[in-house]
Amino acid sequence: MNEMLKNEERTKGTQEYVLLDLSHSPESGFDQFTQVVKRTFGKELFVGLWVTLREMGSTLFGKGKHTVSYPLEKMPIAPRYRAIHDMLRLLESGNYRCIGCGLCEKICISNCIAMDTRYDENQRKEVSEYTINFGRCIFCGYCAEVCPELAIVHGGRYENASEQRASFSLFEDMLTPIDMLKSQNEFDGFGAISPNADENIKKTPLAY
Ligand code: SF4
Ligand code: SF4
Repeated sequence: MNEMLKNEERTKGTQEYVLLDLSHSPESGFDQFTQVVKRTFGKELFVGLWVTLREMGSTLFGKGKHTVSYPLEKMPIAPRYRAIHDMLRLLESGNYRCIGCGLCEKICISNCIAMDTRYDENQRKEVSEYTINFGRCIFCGYCAEVCPELAIVHGGRYENASEQRASFSLFEDMLTPIDMLKSQNEFDGFGAISPNADENIKKTPLAY
């Protein structure tokens, strides 16, 4: 009867429910022990163990490895990944690209950019203070998109843990170090011009 019930249940639905036969509960302690052993050491246990050992073996011997040993190994990040910002310099002179226009400060939806400007001895406007509060920044990329000078881009520095929040929010921390100027990739990172930007420009048709 119980068997019939089970089969009926199986054919009815898509899921295979198994009804437990509770009419013969073990009575003595030994029967209970036997039932526990039977249920614990079913063949499924060894199938599970085999799958675990097989995956462990293939990982240890380098085949089918799905993880990286961070921080010794790192995944390559996409060129347009939005990590901590970089402030770029002009390659020719080493001056800041930033002209202190304030557009990034205005567009920032988290209101986390604070800046101040002054005129230098040549009456050229330059930034005197520039900070991004990374505790508030949501890495939306608007500041990099709006910058007319391509001065601020999102670089690839994503390990931004620090004991001091202030230690990676100053202009100087984001600015390319002057001795690294030669290795600065012009316009690299999110917010930069894409390599095939020229091909994407539609020329205005002229009537004359
Ligand atoms: S990425 Fe977005 S939130 Fe962060 S500083 Fe730029 S505009 Fe503000
Ligand atoms: S980083 Fe760009 S948008 Fe922001 S003040 Fe400088 S030039 Fe203007």
